[in-house]
Amino acid sequence: MATALSRLSLLQPRTLGEALRVLRDEGPLVPLAGCTDLYAGFHFGTVPEQRFLDLQGLRELGGIRRRGETLVIGALTTYTELIRSPLVRRHLPILAEASRWVGSPQIQNRGTLGGNVANASPAGDTLPVLAVAEATVVLRSADRERRVPFGSFYTGYRQTVRRSDELIVAIEVPPVEGRQWFRKVGTRAAQAISKVVMAAVRAPRPRIALGSVAPTVVRVPRTEAVLAEGGTLAEAQAVLVDEIQPIDDLRSTAAYRRRVSGNLLARFWSDTARQGT
Ligand SMILES: Cc1cc2nc3c(=O)[nH]c(=O)nc-3n(C[C@H](O)[C@H](O)[C@H](O)COP(=O)(O)OP(=O)(O)OC[C@H]3O[C@@H](n4cnc5c(N)ncnc54)[C@H](O)[C@@H]3O)c2cc1C
Repeated sequence: MATALSRLSLLQPRTLGEALRVLRDEGPLVPLAGCTDLYAGFHFGTVPEQRFLDLQGLRELGGIRRRGETLVIGALTTYTELIRSPLVRRHLPILAEASRWVGSPQIQNRGTLGGNVANASPAGDTLPVLAVAEATVVLRSADRERRVPFGSFYTGYRQTVRRSDELIVAIEVPPVEGRQWFRKVGTRAAQAISKVVMAAVRAPRPRIALGSVAPTVVRVPRTEAVLAEGGTLAEAQAVLVDEIQPIDDLRSTAAYRRRVSGNLLARFWSDTARQGT
């Protein structure tokens, strides 16, 4: 049954400092950014919490900038902003590409990068991109800030290391050497959750990450090692289908996901070879 919105309360801090104090002193509170995931939860009655913290007014969480060679993306950055950002298109074009595949223009206008990361769905489209970029999640509480390597952020299905008194304030992306590649496979070209989503970088040691094939987004180090050490594509595909743990669910079957993952690996390898890496 849909959640009765009239029973919910929403606190609206004006600054990040105020938001973090409220989170510490008046919690538990659920952060609310673009509300695209949360609203779906209200619709299906799957969000039991009743008290929310509105992040929309926090200017400190917006903006895309460079700090030295590092790209710093505020947690409230929307997909539309990612798609339009010259910095993102230059530094991490596959993040702009992944953003184009999210939902519809309406979702791209509201949904945020921080929300995609915090929501922790294994199907989140930006997550394989951040995994191969070896990004860092910047978490802040009233008392301290800490930086968590993206590869350590998820601890299980929809579980993260974020504490309830912390907000994601930014995602930091170091320089990424090598050709970048992204592909999402879903039921339709738009408004579809992925059956398999893959991001990869063709570097001397290739980096490959997949979504929708395990409880969390995953890097596939054994597959990467085969390619780095000059193994054949067929050998890498055989390792890949063994390295992922897809399941049968409403959207697809494990067998289909294994097959498509192998095909995507082949496509990544041939596309990036043709581009002359
Ligand atoms: C119709 C539709 C289509 C969609 N299509 C796609 C798609 O194709 N691909 C895809 O990946 N996703 C898709 N989504 C999911 C969703 O749009 C994204 O995950 C989006 O990025 C969520 O961002 P948000 O700002 O709306 O998050 P919200 O709904 O506001 O929050 C989501 C979760 O993150 C937490 N949170 C948000 N910001 C922070 C923060 N800064 N710090 C700590 N916690 C935080 C919230 O507490 C909540 O648990 C779709 C959703 C809908 C409704």
